[in-house]
Amino acid sequence: MNGAGAPASTWRDAGGAWLRGIAQIAFLEHWLDGVLVLAATALLSPWSAVGAALGALFAVALGRRVFRQTEWEWQAGFGAYDCAIMGLLWGSVLARGGAPVLLFPLFLLLCLALRGPVHRIMAKLGLPPFALPGLMTVWIALGVFSVLGANFWVYPVPLDPTATEIGLAIACIVIGVLRKNGRVASATVLLAVCTVGMMHWSGQDPWSIGAAGLWAFTVTPAFFAAATMLSGFRLGWVAGAIAAVAAAAVWLAWMALPALAAVPPLMAPLFIGLWVATLLCLGRDRVLCMDPSTQAAARQITAAGRGGAVVLSGAGISTAAGIPDYTAGAWLDVGVPLARYGYGAFLSDPGSRALYWAACARFRVVADHARPCASHAALAAIEAHGLVSTVVTQNVDDLHQKAGARNVVDLHGTIFKVRCLQCGVGHEWPADDAWFAGDLLCPQCNGFLKPAVIAFGEEIPAAVWQAALQAVSNCRVLLVVGTQLAVGAALNLVATARARGAKSIFITMGTLACPVFPGDIMLIQPAERALPAIARLLGVTPMARAS
Ligand SMILES: [Zn+2]
Repeated sequence: MNGAGAPASTWRDAGGAWLRGIAQIAFLEHWLDGVLVLAATALLSPWSAVGAALGALFAVALGRRVFRQTEWEWQAGFGAYDCAIMGLLWGSVLARGGAPVLLFPLFLLLCLALRGPVHRIMAKLGLPPFALPGLMTVWIALGVFSVLGANFWVYPVPLDPTATEIGLAIACIVIGVLRKNGRVASATVLLAVCTVGMMHWSGQDPWSIGAAGLWAFTVTPAFFAAATMLSGFRLGWVAGAIAAVAAAAVWLAWMALPALAAVPPLMAPLFIGLWVATLLCLGRDRVLCMDPSTQAAARQITAAGRGGAVVLSGAGISTAAGIPDYTAGAWLDVGVPLARYGYGAFLSDPGSRALYWAACARFRVVADHARPCASHAALAAIEAHGLVSTVVTQNVDDLHQKAGARNVVDLHGTIFKVRCLQCGVGHEWPADDAWFAGDLLCPQCNGFLKPAVIAFGEEIPAAVWQAALQAVSNCRVLLVVGTQLAVGAALNLVATARARGAKSIFITMGTLACPVFPGDIMLIQPAERALPAIARLLGVTPMARAS
C-alpha cells in the first residue's frame, strides 16, 4: 500500500530508521548504537528515554510522507535525530504528566517543520546543522511554557541515578563509540577522564547535572564528533581539540553571563564548538572536505604512500584559467575544416602551415597571460609534499610548471616552444605573422619548424610516451583530473594503470569515455574546488593560491 513515488518500505526499514535516529544523539549511526544510546538514557532518566523513543518514532512515521524527506535521509535516521534530541529534553515534562504532555506532539510537528528551512540556511553557510532544529524547538517550548507560567525546564529533573547506573550508562556509550572508531574513541575516553579529574581537582562534583553538562555533553562529544568527521586524517585530531576547547569556552561563558541564565545551553556549546572547528580547520573548502567521496579520495592518496600517486590532467583543470580545450580544438578558426590543422596538412600544404602557426600563436598569447588556478597550486603542493610522483598532462599551457610542479610530462608538448620536424632542435618563436610571409625553416637543416605541440594525426614522441607509460605503470593511485579521456593516448594510460592494479580517482565535470569500475572514486566537481579540498585533508598548504 504505497503511494505513487513512495518506495516500498518495511517495518524493518522503519525500525532501522528509528534506532539510527536515536544513535545520532551520540554521533553514531548503526541501529545497534541506537539500542545502546536508548539504554544509556534509560539508566540515567527513564522518561528522557521514553521522550527520545517517542520523538524518533513520530518523525519516522511522518518524515517521508508529510515532511518530504528523501528515502536516504529517512533511512539514515537524519529526520528522526532532531525529534529524538527534542524528546530527550522533554523528559521532565513527560515525567510530571498532565495537560502539558499534550503539547509534545505539537512541538514535534514544529521541529519537523523547522528542519527544512534550518537545513537550507546551514547549507548556505556550508556548516553541518546537527540537531539545531531540535534544540531550537526546545528553546521555543521553554518560552511558551514560561509565558503560560508553567515550568518546562525543571532543573534538576527528578532523577537520581546511582553510581552503578551512571557507570552502566557510560559503558553503553563507550561500547558504541569504540565500535565506530577505536582510536578516536580511546582518545575521547582519555579526554573525558582528564576533564572529570580536573573538575574533581578544582573542587567541583563532576557527577552533578550542571558539571556533567560540561564534560559529558560538551567537551567529550565535541572532540569525538569533530575527530570522527575527519577520521583518518591528522587534521581530525586538530579539529577534535579545537572543537573541545571552543565548546568548553562557550559553555563556561554561557554559565558566567547572567543575560543567558534563562536559556539553558544544552547542546548549543557543543554545536558551536563543532562549527568553530569546521571553519578553522576546513575554511572555504569545508563543504567538500566533509563530502565522503572527497575524503575517500584523500584517504586513497594517503594510503598510496610516498610518490604513490600519478596525476593525469586535461583541459578541465585549465578552463578556470580561461584556456580553451587544446585536444578538442576549441582554439581553432571557426569554419575552417579540422583536417586543415592535421599533421598531414601541415606537411603537405603551405596554406595549412600558415593557418596552424596563426592558431598556435593565438593560443600561446592566451596561455602566456593565464595564471595557474587553485587546482594547479593544490597539485603542485601535493607533489612537493611527496605524495604525487609525476603529473602527466594533456595540456600544452605550462600551468602545472608555473604553479611549481617539478615532474611534469607534457604529453602533447608545450605551446611555448618551437621544434624542427627534421633534426628536432628547439628554436625561438618567430616574430608575429612571419608564417604568412613564407615557410619557417630550420637554419641548421632546412626542415619545417613547427610549434612543439602535437597536431591531430601526429605521433607523441617516443621518449615522452615512455616517460608517461613508466609513471602510470609504477603508480598505486591514478588521479585523473579534468579530462573526459576522449583521446586514445590518455585512455591507454588509464588502462595501463588499472592493469597494474592501481586505484583510479576521477575528478571531472563531464562524462567519461572509459568505464568506471566499482572500486573507482568519482568526484563530479570542478577541479579548482575538489583539489584544494583534497590538499587540505592531506594537510598540505598550496604554495600560492591563484584565483
Ligand atoms: Zn632542423
